[in-house]
Amino acid sequence: MTNYKTIKLRFYEELNDFLPEEKRKKRFTHQFIDRTSVKDLIESLGVPHTEVDLILVNGKSVGFKYLINDGDDISVYPVFESFDISEVQHLRPKPLRKPKFVADVHLGRLTKYLRMMGFDVSYENNFDDEEIVELSLKEKRAILTKDRGILKRNNVTHGYFVRSSKAEEQVKEILNRFNLQKEIKEFSRCIECNELLKPVKKEEVINQLPPKVSRSQNEFYICPACNKIFWKGTHYQRMLTFIQRLGIEE
Ligand SMILES: [Zn+2]
Repeated sequence: MTNYKTIKLRFYEELNDFLPEEKRKKRFTHQFIDRTSVKDLIESLGVPHTEVDLILVNGKSVGFKYLINDGDDISVYPVFESFDISEVQHLRPKPLRKPKFVADVHLGRLTKYLRMMGFDVSYENNFDDEEIVELSLKEKRAILTKDRGILKRNNVTHGYFVRSSKAEEQVKEILNRFNLQKEIKEFSRCIECNELLKPVKKEEVINQLPPKVSRSQNEFYICPACNKIFWKGTHYQRMLTFIQRLGIEE
């Protein structure tokens, strides 16, 4: 005779994004046979552990290694679900102090937008999963990905599953999730190389400027990696409009 264990589960807020319709925003019954940790169970239902901050079993907070018992009643909360959490165990490691990212190959446009706002994002259009995880751990970068498989790896600590397929919406998601609204420094980083821009004197670059630009602009920056010259022209205006459109107060 097979001994089924029967438990109840409820996922809160945006964790429901990962569940099929019939399991969203309600308590549902789940059956299984093997001994399993709460981390493995949650991930078997499609939710990466990097999205989870708090797990309550029968009202008490537990860690990812908790082994599930027959009859357990489990509530799973995402990172920014707000309620009184003074007495409970947070599962998320502390946020990375200066947020840095590594983005997967599907997020090229998002990468450019984030760099445009001054954020440090490693990206190559041929990164494989191993390289992304390694960079994340070595350089303390949060992984931005459309592949939840990466986020389910045990050694991954900081990451975010990007929901939207539209770059502009993706930018909003990242700013909200990592609380970056006040960290935007437009015009500080090269969009192509991710290097910080350096101010450069007009007379040093004047030969490389279109005549119209050398007449109208006086402030210039250079990328030390690709030597591209930047000034606050129409591009910059477009960028400001974009940031305004996101509805972010600076
Ligand atoms: Zn550059």
